[in-house]
Amino acid sequence: MFLTHLESTEDSALCYPADGLATLCPKTGRPLFARYDLEAAGRALSREAYAARPRRLWSLAELLPLADPTQAVDLGEGGTPLLKLPRLGSSLGLTDLWAKDEGQNPTGSFKARGMAVAVSMAKALGARALAVPSAGNAGGALAAYGARAGLPVQLAMPTDVPAANRLEAELHGARVELIDGTIADCGKWIGARKEAEGWFDLSTLKEPYRVEGKKTMGYELALDLEWTLPDVILYPTGGGTGLVGMWKAFEEMIALGWLPEDVQLPRMVVVQAAGCAPMVDAWDAGADVASVPSDPHTVASGLRVPTPIGDRWMLRVLRESGGTAVAVPDEALIAGTVRVSREEGMFFAPEAGALVAALPILLERGDVRADERIVLFNTGTGLKYPECFPLA
Ligand SMILES: *Cc1c(COP(=O)(O)O)cnc(C)c1O
Repeated sequence: MFLTHLESTEDSALCYPADGLATLCPKTGRPLFARYDLEAAGRALSREAYAARPRRLWSLAELLPLADPTQAVDLGEGGTPLLKLPRLGSSLGLTDLWAKDEGQNPTGSFKARGMAVAVSMAKALGARALAVPSAGNAGGALAAYGARAGLPVQLAMPTDVPAANRLEAELHGARVELIDGTIADCGKWIGARKEAEGWFDLSTLKEPYRVEGKKTMGYELALDLEWTLPDVILYPTGGGTGLVGMWKAFEEMIALGWLPEDVQLPRMVVVQAAGCAPMVDAWDAGADVASVPSDPHTVASGLRVPTPIGDRWMLRVLRESGGTAVAVPDEALIAGTVRVSREEGMFFAPEAGALVAALPILLERGDVRADERIVLFNTGTGLKYPECFPLA
C-alpha cells in the first residue's frame, strides 16, 4: 500500500494522516486529496504490468488507497471501451473524435468508479452507515455499493430526480428522503442529521476517495491510447470529480514515468447546461470561485449542481490545461443525445449529449481544431432517462 497522506488541494503544506474517515481540510474547508509514494508504487506496478492485467478498476490497486485490495467492494467497474465516432465526427467536420463509454459501468454511470473506491475505504475505515445527497446517479450507485458492502444507505434526492434513480436506490434497499429543492438543499438535509444519525457523508469531494475512483478514467484513457493523451477532453461537469480526478491521474503518470515529462496534456473542457452553469459563468468572468446561479434547472440531472465545492480546483485545472468552458441549452443537449444515438448507436446520458452540442460551438470559437484528437466522456447511459426523450 502506497498511500502516504492526505493533502489540502489549496495548500500543499497542509498535510494530514490518512488513517481514518476523512472529510474536508479542517483549515481551509476545501477538499483534500490522497498522496502516494509514487516512486515505490512505480516499482511495484509498471505500466506494462498494468496493461497486462484485466481491464478493471481494481487492476490499478497499487495506485488506489485501499490497503487490502481483496477487501474491495467490487461490482466489476471500470475497463470501459474507448470507441471512435467516425460518423458523428465526419458530420461535424472532425477527423479524430472518440468517446469513452462510461455508461457500461455497473449502475450505468461513471459514479460507480467513485463509489467503488469511496465505499471500500469507508467500510475499511469503520463507517457504519453511508449517506449522500444526489440528483441522480450518485444515489443509485451508492445504494448499489452500499448493498454490496452490507452497509445501510441514506439518500436525500430532489423530488424531480429521474424515476430510474429513485427506483434503483429503493430496490437496493437505501432509504430515500425526497426534498423539494436542489441537490444543495439535499446536502443541507444530510448535513443537519449526519452526526446524530452516525452517517458517513460521501458527498462529491467532501471525502477524498471518490476522486481516486474517478481518476482511473485518466489512467485507462492513456492505456487505451497506448500511452498517449488526446488533444482535448470534453467533460459534462456537475461537481467536477472526473475532471479533477483525470488531471490528478495525468500528473501521477508523469511522476511514475508512465508518460514522458514533456507530454502534451489535454486541454480540459467543462461543459454545462445553460440553466445551471456556475463553472462556465466563473470561467467567463475570470473569477477563481463560482457563484450560485439563480433558479438552477436542467433536465440533465447530473449537471444540476449549483454550488460545486471543487470550484477553485476545477478552475485551476482549466487554467493549467489551457482549456475552456461552454454551456448549452437543454434542447441542444437532448438533440445532441439523439444525434449520437442515430449516428453511432450509442445512447448517451443527456449530460453527455451536451458534449455533442458543445462541439460546433467550440469549433466555431476556434477552441478546437478539426483534426485534433478529441475525447468525449459519455458519463452514463441514456436508458436511465426515459422522461427526457419524448418519442420523436
Ligand atoms: C454525476 C454526473 C455527471 C457530473 O459528474 P461530476 O463528476 O459531478 O462533475 C455527469 N454525467 C452524469 C451522467 C452523471 O451522473
